[in-house]
Amino acid sequence: MSRLSIEDLDVKGKKVLLRVDFNVPLDDNQRVTDQNRIVSALPTIKYLIKKGARLILISHLGRPKGKPNDRLSLRPVAEVLGSVLSRQVLFSPALLGPIAQSAIDCLNNGDCLLMENLRFYPEEEKNGDQFAKELASLADIYVNDAFGTAHRAHASNVGVTKYFNESACGFLIRNELEYLENLIQNPQKPFCAIIGGAKVKDKIHVISNLLDLTDDILIGGGMAYSFLKVKGYSIGTSILDEGNLGLVEDIFKKADRNGKRIHLPMDHIVAPEFSNEVDFKIVEENIPEGFMGLDIGPETIKSYISTLKSAKTIFWNGPMGVFEMNHFQTGTFSIAEGISEMDAITVVGGGDSVAAVNQVGKANKMSHISTGGGASLEFLEGKLLPGIEALAERG
Ligand code: AMP
Repeated sequence: MSRLSIEDLDVKGKKVLLRVDFNVPLDDNQRVTDQNRIVSALPTIKYLIKKGARLILISHLGRPKGKPNDRLSLRPVAEVLGSVLSRQVLFSPALLGPIAQSAIDCLNNGDCLLMENLRFYPEEEKNGDQFAKELASLADIYVNDAFGTAHRAHASNVGVTKYFNESACGFLIRNELEYLENLIQNPQKPFCAIIGGAKVKDKIHVISNLLDLTDDILIGGGMAYSFLKVKGYSIGTSILDEGNLGLVEDIFKKADRNGKRIHLPMDHIVAPEFSNEVDFKIVEENIPEGFMGLDIGPETIKSYISTLKSAKTIFWNGPMGVFEMNHFQTGTFSIAEGISEMDAITVVGGGDSVAAVNQVGKANKMSHISTGGGASLEFLEGKLLPGIEALAERG
């Protein structure tokens, strides 16, 4: 599929509608507590400003459920963006209508205007056609750089494209696709994936697809206990995805057919309950009754790191344990630190694994940190992302 990148566009003096993902966390006083998503969009924003575009930024923030909500206004984000860009960023309290139009009419070349939250309109998430048409009427050219919503078909990333002659992806999306496409099309071997997190159901399809691409899959986190159960181990009171054990069996069968290795934890940090306040201990193999596995143990860490050392490509999604509690964070942090040292292409996706990498201060040691956990997983499941498909060149 061919798609335009912003460098293919002549944007000087044109009104450019740029869809970004400014869905940042706010505290109770509406202050932005993490600027990562704003910073990730800077290369595209700076490029368009430098090229003399009249920039109209659109984004969602939180879940206002289709109604205006002062607590989810993008106004504070405009201030943060202004300070990281060291220039004035204008804010329009209306997304559509005469107030929005007059803010746009005042833009000079190189000016930057952030519009109010897309999700104040229910039509945004419903991909409403009339709403998409009105959004498109704000500008001459459309650019999408919101990878985090690429797996959703909304008006601002899908519906809107039909009303533009020129649509392109920004640098952030281009970069994401370059790394993720490389994983599925041409990964350097050995390719090793580490998949953790709580729910089998959420990750099973990506594991199944990765079995066609990888050499080794290392399983951790809560879902490891469903895999161990199917293998006949005792798992005590660890979380078990009872309804999806059949899917786990299918994964083992597929791995056998493909001659691939699925690695499971061989020791565990266990506690009598899901709490940081109770005694915990290390157990090997079988988990005794009355205990639950809350992190991978030291032998598993050693063995996983040793497998990862031979890899040339590594993909990681999902924590190895309940890393929010300090008794159960060693597994996740050791994997984050371990892969940061490795001489391999390292791609990390998913909110929790990215948070862990940031917490151990190793983000700049990874080849790529994906800004879209859900989007990157769906991509690796082999699904087409509607927000990306909509950018295909019409010819
Ligand atoms: P996910 O959204 O599926 O990637 O799951 C992330 C969540 O899994 C985190 O909040 C972890 O605390 C949780 N988690 C990881 N390991 C375990 C475990 N052994 N038992 C219960 N929850 C876990």
